[in-house]
Amino acid sequence: MAKLILVPTPIGNLEDITLRAIRILKETDLVFAEDTRTTNRLLKHFEISKPAIPFHAHNEHRSLALTIDRIRANKMCVLVSDAGTPAISDPGYLLVRECLKEGIEIECLPGPAALIPAVVASGFPCDKFVFEGFLPHKKGRQTRWKILAEEERTIVLYESPHRLVKCLGQIGEFMGEDRQVCVAREITKIYEEYKRGTTMEVMKHYEEHPPKGEIVIVIEGKK
Ligand code: SAM
Repeated sequence: MAKLILVPTPIGNLEDITLRAIRILKETDLVFAEDTRTTNRLLKHFEISKPAIPFHAHNEHRSLALTIDRIRANKMCVLVSDAGTPAISDPGYLLVRECLKEGIEIECLPGPAALIPAVVASGFPCDKFVFEGFLPHKKGRQTRWKILAEEERTIVLYESPHRLVKCLGQIGEFMGEDRQVCVAREITKIYEEYKRGTTMEVMKHYEEHPPKGEIVIVIEGKK
């Protein structure tokens, strides 16, 4: 029976791949990848000679039927994204849903995802939290903020560095400038940094030191 395995890959530090992920990548018949260049570099690093086949956001809908056919024709296929866990703010969900509809077995290995170290190291309660991924840029963003302003659980967002200050401004506007936040930047990389404080304090810091790299924002829930 055909099987699709979602394999998480490092979010910055190549040591964060699991032994099992390496074994599965070696054993699999096909590797579907969000960006084949990124994945081929990763495979080369671990001395795995298996060419990656594109499966990315631009062709996710279009290539679904073809991908399902390819999975059916093999025993084991793997889906990876550029970094972290596939389908978490990355392509994958549609393929998983379609595989399940088609009776194809799905497995997801445990492994890196940026939200987990960010929420755990934030110091905010992490027994319960909500993951919002990227908020919509324009339409629907205000509505999300209004809903999130009432949220009592810790909130986790993905955001790009050039929108960070604006985003912190909106947290201040909708949740109050005293709301505690933690910005986790470049997790597992050389310039890894956690900035904790009130929204106003953290926003001032990043106004003075424009951030680079990848960012997770963690917001304390409403008290
Ligand atoms: N699939 C990935 C995961 O499991 O976390 C997420 C992919 S999403 C396209 C990329 C976003 O994840 C970045 O814009 C950033 O918000 C977050 N991210 C990924 N790597 C990160 C890192 N090393 N440090 C901080 N945030 C990171």
